Amino acid sequence: MLILEVLIEYGTASLNRPFSYAYLGDLSIFKGVRVLVPFANKRIIGFVNRVYKVSENLEEYKRKVGFEVKEIISVIDEKPLFNDELLELANKISAYYLCSLISVYQTMLPPSLKPKISSLSKPKIAYELMVEIINDSTLDLTPKQTSLLLELKSLNKPIKKNTIKTTALKGLIEKKRVRVFKQEITRFQLEDIEYEEEKKLNEEQSEAAKQILESNDKVFLLEGVTGSGKTEVYLHVAKEVLNRGQSVLMLVPEIALTAKTIRQFQARFKNLAVLHSELSDGEKYDEYRRIAKGEVNLVIGARSAIFAPLKNLGLIIIDEEHSETYKQDNAPFYHVNKVSLMRSEICNCKVVFGSATPSLETRVRAMRGIYHHLRLTRRINNQDLPHTEIVDMVNSKNIDRESVIFSKILREKIKDRLQKKEQVILLVNRRGYFTYISCRKCGHVIKCPECDIPLTYHHQEQILKCHHCGYEKEMIEECPKCHSPYLSKTGFGTERVEKEVARLFPDAKCARLDSDVGRLKNNIKRILDEFSEQKIDILIGTQMIAKGHDFENVTLVGVVLADLTLALPSYRAGEKTFALITQAIGRAGRKDKVGEAIIQTNNPTNYAIYASSTQDYERFFNEEMIRRKLHQDPPFTYLTLLTLSAVKEDILMERVYDVISFLEVKFENKKVLIVGPSEPFILCLNGRYRRNLLLKYKIEKEVKTVLEELNEIISKRSDCTLSINIDPYDDY
Ligand code: ADP
Ligand code: ZN
Ligand code: ZN
Repeated sequence: MLILEVLIEYGTASLNRPFSYAYLGDLSIFKGVRVLVPFANKRIIGFVNRVYKVSENLEEYKRKVGFEVKEIISVIDEKPLFNDELLELANKISAYYLCSLISVYQTMLPPSLKPKISSLSKPKIAYELMVEIINDSTLDLTPKQTSLLLELKSLNKPIKKNTIKTTALKGLIEKKRVRVFKQEITRFQLEDIEYEEEKKLNEEQSEAAKQILESNDKVFLLEGVTGSGKTEVYLHVAKEVLNRGQSVLMLVPEIALTAKTIRQFQARFKNLAVLHSELSDGEKYDEYRRIAKGEVNLVIGARSAIFAPLKNLGLIIIDEEHSETYKQDNAPFYHVNKVSLMRSEICNCKVVFGSATPSLETRVRAMRGIYHHLRLTRRINNQDLPHTEIVDMVNSKNIDRESVIFSKILREKIKDRLQKKEQVILLVNRRGYFTYISCRKCGHVIKCPECDIPLTYHHQEQILKCHHCGYEKEMIEECPKCHSPYLSKTGFGTERVEKEVARLFPDAKCARLDSDVGRLKNNIKRILDEFSEQKIDILIGTQMIAKGHDFENVTLVGVVLADLTLALPSYRAGEKTFALITQAIGRAGRKDKVGEAIIQTNNPTNYAIYASSTQDYERFFNEEMIRRKLHQDPPFTYLTLLTLSAVKEDILMERVYDVISFLEVKFENKKVLIVGPSEPFILCLNGRYRRNLLLKYKIEKEVKTVLEELNEIISKRSDCTLSINIDPYDDY
């Protein structure tokens, strides 16, 4: 009899241990397969973690161990779902992010293979019937059968059965001239595109490629201004690595961007697999299997593609490494950059982080020599950067009665482009949808006295709150700086801008692209295609439109209100603002037309806005580092965000203070700062109240040990739950 130690599908801390089941059948069972098991009167999935033989029968065994051991219901997989490398990766992730192994497995696998009961109703392997010749003799065939046989013979390969419309097929099968067999279908098919010649790399590009391929370093930061040809470097390096017989993983941050990258790679490499959230469950399953079977050695995808089961991995490329989408914002809260380093440790592959606006964490590591720092300093063709103008929305010279959203100059420029039949991009960062208060007269933004980030206006209670430390005060009547009573509540999104554009330019064709629109399958691709075919004059959108796209006819980019991201209650507000505006401006004038950009803001002297208008990363970096140091934010510290939740608010608050006391005792003398409790942006989720605590610290190891202990304690409580977000992207 076999004893199977399985992890069950519930990843909660209290059930995060192996459970023993017996297997009396005669199949061979491996570590890493799924089994169906009885658990608390339910049928659930178990993931086999260990298998061993015992000589006793079930009754004897139960008596020996002294507890109930049940039989499994059935075995689901023939072969393990993971190779050793991915099992090791899962272990590392679970240890680093303090989450259950089963939750990591669930994250790593496509829906059809997840160790979860829901996987059983997900798509299975799809087959189609094929016809193949086994004997080409035409002896004693009817004329119709002969002609079909000859036709099949001329094809020289199996053909789909449903494409043969004649009844002669039946005869050929009976007379044993052809056989019918089942063949797996790949549900996902890329459109065919034309092959494109490799470009000859310029000097900077070839030096970068050479370093990546030939130096002994493992991890690289490829920093290059927008349009400097980073993608061409990726293509070149990928080709070399593939030629060496190794595989390549290329990650892109947004679904909106994958289409473009796929096309670029597909134009050079025929055989690649694609993994991103727009694929159907069946398509994901097929692509995943193709990769696992080794049929492809190049994968392009979004965040979860970092778990692609490529063997013999030689290179991981993370494009736009600073992107927020690389961090998963629910358990296990992993970050692609971190996971790529773990994979690199395991299989010794190279990692290239690429960006025009690297995250500060990555940039600092590159400057310290932990990553090999490579730069592309020139745009291809030495093309000029767009001419950029910052428009002060507080200055009455720039605005008039019509300026609800647009300054005089931006309106004029849009009108001018519409007349010239050139296109316009308007960037609105709706993710920054927090209403904050600023002075109409002097532009002063009301901020938290502790954290120096804008306070969020809560309409119902008429208060201003800090979403970071919990500080709050009553809504103010006048500007604390200049005493003007004219205060503006700012916080608008793409929809509002779309309405205003329609009002001002009723004849222009206008489209909006944000995550609401993007949720509908193929919407993103359709809108981007139409824009690129110049069927749309004005494209309004969030960061989705800011990055990566090449639109030849776009000569004007308008940043509608740069302050929307600046007002985010996050230590990253400056970084996000800088990256977003820099990328957006890079969209203007990509071919031979010179581009222009207008940045509207209430804070024309803000360093992030100013630096982005000149695409001056260095200036931004230096200024931002000073601020981070002052507030002891990353990269000077590490962060962990704890979220406690409970059905009852009073119990929640009790637990929150229990946790604070516990941590204070544990962290005595250890220089761990506990910030909060504060209210998360979504205060109540699925009927549970929530509170955040933020930990800031310099030494990771001690904190992890304490958090493990805390997790253990909370997991035994039934009245509250704890989620641990290691290295949160934001601190609120
Ligand atoms: P980035 O990713 O750095 O923003 P891209 O890789 O998209 O820049 O390159 C910008 C443009 O320059 C693209 O149209 C690309 O085809 C072109 N390009 C890149 N490298 C070369 C080269 N060596 N020779 C000619 N054109 C190039
Ligand atoms: Zn605060
Ligand atoms: Zn003022």
